Amino acid sequence: MGPSYHNYVGVAASPGIAIGKAFTHAGARPVVSQRRVSSARVEPERSRFTSALVSVAETVRRTRDRVEIEHGQDLAQIFEAQLAMLADAEVRDRTLQIIGERHWPAERAFAETMAGLCAAFEQIDNEYLRARVGDLHDIEQQVLTELSGGAMPGLQTLRSNTVIIARDLLPSEVAQLGRRLVTGLVIDVGGATSHTSIIARSLGLPTVVGAEGASRRIASGSRVIVDGDEGVVHALPTAPVLRYFRSERRRQLRRERDLSERRSLPSVTVDDFKVQLCANVDLPQEIDLALANGAEGVGMCRTEFLYLGHVLPGEQQQYESYRAIVEAMSPRPVVIRTLDLGGDKLSHAVDTSAEANPMLGWRGIRICLDTPSLFKTQIKAILRAAACGDARILLPMVSRIDEVRRARSLISEAASELAAEGIDHRADCDLGVMIEVPSAAIMARQFAEEVEFFSLGTNDLVQYTLAVDRGTARVANLYDPLHPAVLRLIREVSDSARDAGISAAICGEMASDPEAAVVLLGLGVMQLSVSSTAIPELKEVVRAIRLSDARELAEEALTLTSGAEVRHLVQSRIGPALRLARPARPAGERP
Ligand code: PEP
Ligand code: MG
Repeated sequence: MGPSYHNYVGVAASPGIAIGKAFTHAGARPVVSQRRVSSARVEPERSRFTSALVSVAETVRRTRDRVEIEHGQDLAQIFEAQLAMLADAEVRDRTLQIIGERHWPAERAFAETMAGLCAAFEQIDNEYLRARVGDLHDIEQQVLTELSGGAMPGLQTLRSNTVIIARDLLPSEVAQLGRRLVTGLVIDVGGATSHTSIIARSLGLPTVVGAEGASRRIASGSRVIVDGDEGVVHALPTAPVLRYFRSERRRQLRRERDLSERRSLPSVTVDDFKVQLCANVDLPQEIDLALANGAEGVGMCRTEFLYLGHVLPGEQQQYESYRAIVEAMSPRPVVIRTLDLGGDKLSHAVDTSAEANPMLGWRGIRICLDTPSLFKTQIKAILRAAACGDARILLPMVSRIDEVRRARSLISEAASELAAEGIDHRADCDLGVMIEVPSAAIMARQFAEEVEFFSLGTNDLVQYTLAVDRGTARVANLYDPLHPAVLRLIREVSDSARDAGISAAICGEMASDPEAAVVLLGLGVMQLSVSSTAIPELKEVVRAIRLSDARELAEEALTLTSGAEVRHLVQSRIGPALRLARPARPAGERP
């Protein structure tokens, strides 16, 4: 008997239901044979090698074109660099020479050439070039796969309605997936606030992470259902299961249509308090979606997308990207977060690898202050874009007051240099800090004297406060944004901002959880920035509750001893209002 219906319970990382055919990307690597070939095989091996180069280049070119259309030039750059490597005469000639001299098969000769090249790159005393070793490995795998008969089909061969099942995927890999073809994602590892999950949410791809064993056991081509609301993957569903999810998906689509009709309603509570709802934006292409969902501004624009390629983006390129966002949102505000590489946000152009504990390592503002030219280039681009609309600067991963002071002084230097060059810009952009490290939350009163606004980054604040990695499925049950310790820090930040007369927003993912959003409002955080697809539902929540109830509830939450108690409190106090705003799935029909 063949395999039958089974499911995997993981972590709900991006909401919605996807029904499609699995494409299992198990990450198997082709084996390189160590044998030798006869003299008669030398020429055929050589031409097998050159055809493989041509064929891989063609595939990479198609991926580049598709990524450029769907996500823009910045992401497509990654593939430009891969094409340049495939066209490299030295690599080709050296491999052909090894095949001829040693009578090695094409795979072995090419692997030898690449090993030499990687070793040479690793010795180079230049960080950017050293960081390209990863790309050399990538190209090597693609060519070896092609030579071994393409046993591991590339993501380029996808059909429509595909659910990608992978052991792990990098945030940049998810960003490259075509939304036209890919309908859902299942990943063996990871947590809901890892960047892979965040990008999946931005793209509106239903996703389950932490679905241990899925990539080993679900065969390519089999039917799967991704339940991104409950965090469950159903493989080989029976007819009743399939019927249930098809009908649930139809219900969700109807609900999305209803919500979009209510998009222009104001986001005010029943007792008439205004709540500002903004969008977090990870890719410039998301701006249209943000506007369509009624975003009142961009609460946090992550800028790492610009640094995914192999070459650091110049001032002009960054300026054009920021200006496009600022102009599209004008007159609404756009908070541009300066480069936050490190941790799980990796770049080909800045080498942040080889740390035992990258989440506590060289990341965010630390990289920027250690590399002033990198920071000033970005700041100049932001100051120039600020001349075209309301752009503000946000510093990530700040843990010490002197980091803000040093950043401010580099910002002044950047403004003076622009002035000296006679370039149009705005020198007095508002400057804010992310409050995402406990030291910054605890010293919020001191930080409030230094900046014009706060943005609570609870994705990191929760991980650092509770010592729970945000990207590890095994401890996902301990990652608890409603933990009273986290709530007390948020209260301190919100009170400090109010007393200093500055604003405090939240841009962490917890703001898109309706129950957590009510607590945040009760704690005094009246600006919420979330993935734009979460805005319409959040507005329904705001419109269904009284701020006075939320405040009372938050006071009580601070006295409780666990996140579960806080959630229970919210449900028992304002459960009915929340259910009205966010109808649950019909009970009783679930498979
Ligand atoms: C956060 O830490 O909450 C945040 C918004 O930043 P990121 O998710 O990019 O680390
Ligand atoms: Mg963060």
